Amino acid sequence: MSEPIPMPRIELPPGLPSAAVIDLDAIADNVRALRSHAPKAQLMAVVKADAYGHGLVPSARAALAGGAAWLGTAQITEALALRAAGIQAPVLSWLTVPGDRFQQAIQQNIDLGVSAGWALTEIAAAAREAGTPARVQLKVDTGLNRNGCTLDDWPQLIEDALKLQAEGLISVVGAFSHFVSADAPGDPVNVEQLANFVAALDQAHTAGARFEVRHMANSPATLTNPAAHFDLVRPGLAVYGLSPLAGREPAEFGLRPAMNLLGRVTNVKKVAAGQGISYGHTYTTGEDTSVAVIPLGYGDGIPRHASSSGPVQIAGQQYRIAGRVCMDQFVLDLGPAGLDKIEAGDTAVLFGSAAGQPSAQDWADAAGTINYEIVTRVAARVPRLYVSDQR
Ligand SMILES: *Cc1c(COP(=O)(O)O)cnc(C)c1O
Repeated sequence: MSEPIPMPRIELPPGLPSAAVIDLDAIADNVRALRSHAPKAQLMAVVKADAYGHGLVPSARAALAGGAAWLGTAQITEALALRAAGIQAPVLSWLTVPGDRFQQAIQQNIDLGVSAGWALTEIAAAAREAGTPARVQLKVDTGLNRNGCTLDDWPQLIEDALKLQAEGLISVVGAFSHFVSADAPGDPVNVEQLANFVAALDQAHTAGARFEVRHMANSPATLTNPAAHFDLVRPGLAVYGLSPLAGREPAEFGLRPAMNLLGRVTNVKKVAAGQGISYGHTYTTGEDTSVAVIPLGYGDGIPRHASSSGPVQIAGQQYRIAGRVCMDQFVLDLGPAGLDKIEAGDTAVLFGSAAGQPSAQDWADAAGTINYEIVTRVAARVPRLYVSDQR
């Protein structure tokens, strides 16, 4: 019999008003689980936007420890931060602007996503300056109508890219696209986009392109659409243990949430029946009650849209926000027995990974948004603390 594996301790250290405690083992385990959903493909862990709020570098390292072969960022600055931290794994950065830091990206061996001719021109010029060929991955728009080269412009982009490759200025190493509605697996647009992507790959192949990696699958496609896996899957949200599919729990896919958002009760007091709470008195107490003040507000990324609805657990019991979320704090109505059960200094769990705790999805439901936004918007004022049982 093997020893039970101790769970890392998710707690708010003394004296801190709040923290986002990030379980790095969850990130590594989630990557392992995602690889088992796409066993024939490599995995690129998407770590854009500070790893969806979880902290760029520690999250990236944990994803690599779990078997990610690649890292993906939106902006070049994010990719450069990975290199500055000493991370040498392959990195793709796909959202660039004219005048971007292409030369630094090339010098740091960062693959550049290209959606338009202007980027090829600028990247080729930067490669000439750097004296090193740029690694380029071409992005084709198969239906999202966001970034990516249109299907009409694709043959020209391929031709221009192969010409620059022949000149030794770039290496065309990948082709990729992005789904419209992978979170709705039955939507026919998924089939249409896949067909468009395969046709675009065929066109590129006929023109002479030989890609190391072809990729299209975000988290929901990684979990539900094996036909979309190609050489590489590109999940973000699922790496952090959240479900990208409405009504499906992370555990159904072998995932567990990595972020635990904790706050410390700063004040508990009595409030009489019929009193309004917080700005505008939008919430009125129904009875003689007690309230707790939690030092997290929209300045910390708590959505103001979660006023009078966001769930919070203290000492195993769940409460809801009473009245408006303010910049630095919100109030919970604890009911009449609150003063006996809860005191200043207790830990409040806004969302966490333990059974029965509210989830980022619950907050998304309360605020009329998606779980992606709930974790990503946690502000810099909230310290990220990391736990792991790996040594
Ligand atoms: C953000 C992003 C992803 C990851 O999407 P998830 O839904 O979080 O898995 C993948 N590819 C691209 C191009 C993205 O912008």
